[in-house]
Amino acid sequence: MDLYGGIEAGGTKFVCAVGSGPDDLRDEIRFPTSTPAEALGKAIAYFREQHARHPLKAIGVASFGPVDPNPASPTFGYVTTTPKPHWAHANVVGVLQEALAVPIGFDTDVNGAALGEHRWGAAQGLDTFVYLTVGTGLGGGGMVNGRLIHGLMHSEMGHMRVPHDRERDPYKGWCTYHGDCLEGLTCGPAIEDRWQISARDLAPGHPAWALEAHYLALGLVNIITILSPQRIIMGGGVMDQLHLFPLIRAEVQTLLNGYVQKPELQEGIDHFIVPPGLGNRAGVLGAIALAQAAAE
Ligand code: ADP
Ligand code: ZN
Repeated sequence: MDLYGGIEAGGTKFVCAVGSGPDDLRDEIRFPTSTPAEALGKAIAYFREQHARHPLKAIGVASFGPVDPNPASPTFGYVTTTPKPHWAHANVVGVLQEALAVPIGFDTDVNGAALGEHRWGAAQGLDTFVYLTVGTGLGGGGMVNGRLIHGLMHSEMGHMRVPHDRERDPYKGWCTYHGDCLEGLTCGPAIEDRWQISARDLAPGHPAWALEAHYLALGLVNIITILSPQRIIMGGGVMDQLHLFPLIRAEVQTLLNGYVQKPELQEGIDHFIVPPGLGNRAGVLGAIALAQAAAE
């Protein structure tokens, strides 16, 4: 049985794990995303120890971004222009490769999660779908025609613009670059800043959730009309509020107003906008899936 390492490199914490899939995740550690030297140093020490017990065939990194995912680029495997202290222009893949001497797979956290969902979760058998996370930020990745979405860089779905009715919602938005882009209006910190209460503590009947569903649905309609995904998977801490799903589904239907005539968007919508099949392990299993892809 081939074993792989995975790093879910989040803006808040690193999760490192060893395994071969959802039924075989053997070991896991977590630590804060402090500085590149410290966090990558801990990851290297962990994988060296694991590797000595059982050789790892490859390691995958599913990273917060922006990143450079282009293997032909001189800065491939870097976190690039992040406002996160210490991490701008941090070389991640190069440091791991030099220390561990195994193939390193690398992509955004959301493309990683999308690959994991495609292999083992809610996107099995699909070739065009989107994975969104709504948490500290809002990120989107996925596949088009069976390939992870890349291009100039990678998708930045969180920074799309959506209509902002300032009478209904005077909140200026949380994004440092744009204020009221989709991420700026919907991410966990935006909810908390707007309502001055932790998103975890907002009751399901609070008007915050109808507003949240409205903005997220506006984003989904843009994604649906541009990419024509066969499914949209929504994860991240904010989507742990499962009562958001029916609100979002209904709002998407209202906004589309019957224009896209597919059963998936009518009676089948409960299977079209869904939580991750891998639950809160989507991120780390995505990193393992990136490792497998690197080994292949
Ligand atoms: P990350 O973005 O670092 O990957 P999460 O997806 O867990 O991590 O996002 C963390 C954010 O999500 C927190 O800032 C908080 O606002 C929000 N959040 C986390 N858990 C919940 C919850 N159960 N209900 C509502 N919001 C939550
Ligand atoms: Zn933005």
